[in-house]
Amino acid sequence: MSNPVSLENQKTQIETPAIPRPPRRSRDYQQIAIYKDVNPLDWEDWHWQLKHRICSKEELSQIIRLTPEEEKGIDKAKGRLAMAITPYWANLIDADDPDCPIRRQSVPVGAEFSIAPHEMADPCAEDRDSPAAHLVHRYPDRVLLLATEHCAMYCRHCTRRRLVGEHEDKEENPLTKFDAAIEYIKANRKIRDVLISGGDPLILEDEALENLLQKIRDISHVEFLRIGTRIPVTLPQRITEKLTDMLKKYSPIWMSIHFNHPKEITKRCKSACDMLAESGIPLGSQSVLLKGVNDRPYVFKRLVHDLLQIRVRPYYIYQCDPVRGTQHFRTPVATGINIIEKLRGHTSGYAVPTYVIDGPGGGGKIPIGPNYILSQAKGKYVLRNYKGKIYTYLE
Ligand SMILES: *Cc1c(COP(=O)(O)O)cnc(C)c1O
Repeated sequence: MSNPVSLENQKTQIETPAIPRPPRRSRDYQQIAIYKDVNPLDWEDWHWQLKHRICSKEELSQIIRLTPEEEKGIDKAKGRLAMAITPYWANLIDADDPDCPIRRQSVPVGAEFSIAPHEMADPCAEDRDSPAAHLVHRYPDRVLLLATEHCAMYCRHCTRRRLVGEHEDKEENPLTKFDAAIEYIKANRKIRDVLISGGDPLILEDEALENLLQKIRDISHVEFLRIGTRIPVTLPQRITEKLTDMLKKYSPIWMSIHFNHPKEITKRCKSACDMLAESGIPLGSQSVLLKGVNDRPYVFKRLVHDLLQIRVRPYYIYQCDPVRGTQHFRTPVATGINIIEKLRGHTSGYAVPTYVIDGPGGGGKIPIGPNYILSQAKGKYVLRNYKGKIYTYLE
């Protein structure tokens, strides 16, 4: 820490830029010409949404004017994390702006296929830490269960792109494919927390999901379940009363939802989150720091404030993992630290997520943030607060 006192002169307030805030989404609903005549009952049917996903250049070019970079990306992505965009999500894309955060997260670009030397297929070494099929066991008391390899929409920054996509499933019996994982959890009494992720577990039919939840719930030492999902953001129609009634039976279930930009928080998304919250499911968010999408402090602050309003507690913000083909999304670590610096103390503590780097090679989530301890000696800590003012704490 060079000269901590000078921090006081630094601007720590987030400047409100001259760019006006976009109007509250009033375009949740069928704003695009090709969707104008869709029956609202169809639009609200999550199976309809999945069946009508945009997976080709031809379909997408009916909605937006594609840039050459996007055309190249869509062609190259065929067969490897191919593009798939729900009509709901497509409806939020700005047709005139290639930098639209909704568009950048879902439309492949050529840059995805230039691989940086340090990028890896499996940056968090999950495959190495897998003691049974579909299971990752890294921490002493909790496991990650990969319930499916599919999602409603494929994020271009996906960290599990080695597994995830629209390929055919391996030939596994859906009723028994998790048997080895379940047996492993049963045999390890230290496991008290099972995180179900994927892919997106909410892409499963209610019956398949319930079958899995039931098997895990039957293990007496498992204290609680978590679901990691992006479906309330990419396909909110999936959150039906039938689903929430089913989930209630397996309480306590916590849910981590992947949110990256304030534009994702539409009225439709809010009503899906309301249904989940009202079913007694505590909601948290996970965000990935993405260059040009959410790396400006004022954008991220808007996101966390909007999340609190829909009862979602910001949980993690991840440094974008060094997974193959994501260099164009990666920011310096200092960008993330600066975002936390500009939140902590300046706004509600509930709005501040933990910034983490998932240690490449399997280190797990390592918290990173501004340094508030300036020096430490026997019985004495010299600290600074969010304004850069210095305080001494005597032990
Ligand atoms: C993220 C993760 C977890 C859960 O970590 P928490 O910090 O408890 O949210 C568990 N297992 C693996 C392999 C993970 O990557």
